[in-house]
Amino acid sequence: MMKITVIGSGYVGLVAGACFASRGIKVCCVDKDLNKINLLSSGKIHIHEPGLEEIVAHAISSKHISFAQNLDSIHDSDAIFLAVGTPSSETGEADISGVIAAAEEIAEIAKRDTILVTKSTVPVGTAKKLQDLLKAKRSDIKFSIVSNPEFLREGSAVKDFLQPDRIVLGCTNSEAMEVLKNIYAPITAKDIPVLCTDNQTAELIKYASNSYLAMRIAFINEIADLCENIGADVEEVATGMGYDARIGRHYLHAGPGYGGSCFPKDTLAISHFANSINCPLNIVNTVIKSNDERKERIAKRITAKLKAANIKTVAVLGLAFKTDTDDMRESISLNVIPQLIEAGFIVKAFDPSHPLEAKALWEGKITFTNSTEEALNNAEVAVILTEWSEFKLLQPKDFINSMQVARILDMRNLYSAKKMKAAGIDYSSIGRV
Ligand code: NAD
Repeated sequence: MMKITVIGSGYVGLVAGACFASRGIKVCCVDKDLNKINLLSSGKIHIHEPGLEEIVAHAISSKHISFAQNLDSIHDSDAIFLAVGTPSSETGEADISGVIAAAEEIAEIAKRDTILVTKSTVPVGTAKKLQDLLKAKRSDIKFSIVSNPEFLREGSAVKDFLQPDRIVLGCTNSEAMEVLKNIYAPITAKDIPVLCTDNQTAELIKYASNSYLAMRIAFINEIADLCENIGADVEEVATGMGYDARIGRHYLHAGPGYGGSCFPKDTLAISHFANSINCPLNIVNTVIKSNDERKERIAKRITAKLKAANIKTVAVLGLAFKTDTDDMRESISLNVIPQLIEAGFIVKAFDPSHPLEAKALWEGKITFTNSTEEALNNAEVAVILTEWSEFKLLQPKDFINSMQVARILDMRNLYSAKKMKAAGIDYSSIGRV
């Protein structure tokens, strides 16, 4: 039976660990946060990710997964996956200190040749950096670094991990490559392409992919602005573009600007890296600027509209950066809510995932409700920030019956503008008049 250790049990590490365990691999998920380890050991999970709790519970009962704060499991692991965070530093550079710290801990205790897999998103050149560092610390042991970027999306992470579009493996050591292919064999059995390449190409594939997707979102958002100016409909523009097989429909949904733990930080990181080698990426730089400015502009636009309408009570629907997750990193709610608080509105917010970060930031400043109905009750406007399907299912009467004034600012284009307006709702959305 193959055995692995996954270091970092967050959105990526826990999903990867649980999914590998569900395919028969013996996995130890490690995290330095003891609270997480205790919770996970009891079969509960600390994040909102559809289907994950069930897989974890099943893997615990079949004894395929265990959780630990220490690194004892590395001694009989076929490979060690690093899935620790790589947040933006102040300069925009990816902060890989967590990856380095974990590698150093491994170097201190490793007893035999070791395969280290970087699943964290790491800048080009990180594999080489790790290789040099480990060689300097332990010349008695051979470390093979495999760059294996992860492409899962929060909200559909389990499906994305088990049915990926591709697996990317970057490594120059053919034996390590074979071990990784074996670990992935239960997943790749169903005709999933495996791209085997060198480390830095693998590292760059991840950044190039995320920058490209971020660019599509920023692009359609600018087209949405144009639509608002000329009275066109951005949803129909995107549909018309998407029918073109060269373009496709994905990542052409106009909205308040992209957020999350990946696009903002990865675009910044690749831009920083490219600048550092004197090869600036003008398109990526423009995408970053366009998105940052948009989020601030959207927040200001919401506040200005509410002030102009003399509103006091606001229902905010959605706090997470996207549907089906509790992750609030770089969410538009972080731009909007502080402005609403500052402007003195009474804010009632509901997010189906009840993000802990929101409580930590705004407890006592806004009211957190337990349902959409409770948030809408007596509100004078509903501001929709996240595209949860339970919000999509709301009908005009749900707003009309609960609210003091049926008014909606829909930043996710969840409804037919025609239907809402026909029902007498004061409705505005993105890129549609
Ligand atoms: P996260 O913050 O949810 O999880 C990271 C975990 O690592 C935390 O639980 C932290 O306690 C733990 N940790 C940090 N240093 C440690 C150490 N030395 N030893 C043990 N545990 C340690 O982060 P995430 O969202 O899972 O992202 C992890 C990496 O995967 C990042 O590089 C990210 O860019 C990349 N990634 C994320 C996504 C996503 O959708 N979240 C998708 C693809 C790739």
